[in-house]
Amino acid sequence: KSGFVSIVGRPNVGKSTLLNRVVGQKIAIMSDKAQTTRNKIQGIYTTKEAQIIFIDTPGIHKPKHRLGDFMVDTALSSISGVEAILFMVSAIQKRGPGDNFIIEKLKEANKPVFLVINKIDQIHPDKLLAIIEDYKTEMDFAEIVPISATEGNNVERLLETIVQYM
Ligand code: GDP
Ligand code: MG
Repeated sequence: KSGFVSIVGRPNVGKSTLLNRVVGQKIAIMSDKAQTTRNKIQGIYTTKEAQIIFIDTPGIHKPKHRLGDFMVDTALSSISGVEAILFMVSAIQKRGPGDNFIIEKLKEANKPVFLVINKIDQIHPDKLLAIIEDYKTEMDFAEIVPISATEGNNVERLLETIVQYM
């Protein structure tokens, strides 16, 4: 099994940290899937059974001007070829306008969207349910996976779940 996944989210939620943890290769592979020519491959996670190709989708953020709008559209078209989208948020930051903007765009993507709640090492476990409920009021997520990218909590489970969507 193999497929493409993109990670979107506000700055500093931990996207690069997760990628650095899971990704072993940064190579420009040739593939028959169109994504490889349209987007920057950030890295590839490979096991015996599966290969997950993480791609960069620059520009999903709240635009401050019209050019920004165009860039967001470009980013949206780039996620049209992925098998799943990881929407990463931080457990230690309140949902904000930046998150809400991304959520509105992801609703148009018609793809499985995972809510990945990162930095759970920084909160009391009792707080997690309220965070999940808060995001669930905004969108139906295909999966909701709380992780700690720095500690590695639940990262294996996240990868296994992604593979199920390929
Ligand atoms: P990005 O902008 O979304 O790519 O975020 P980064 O990966 O650069 O991370 C931003 C900051 O959050 C860095 O200082 C990371 O060390 C920190 N960070 C990332 N993941 C975690 C986590 O699971 N727990 C904690 N405590 N800090 C994290
Ligand atoms: Mg980053």
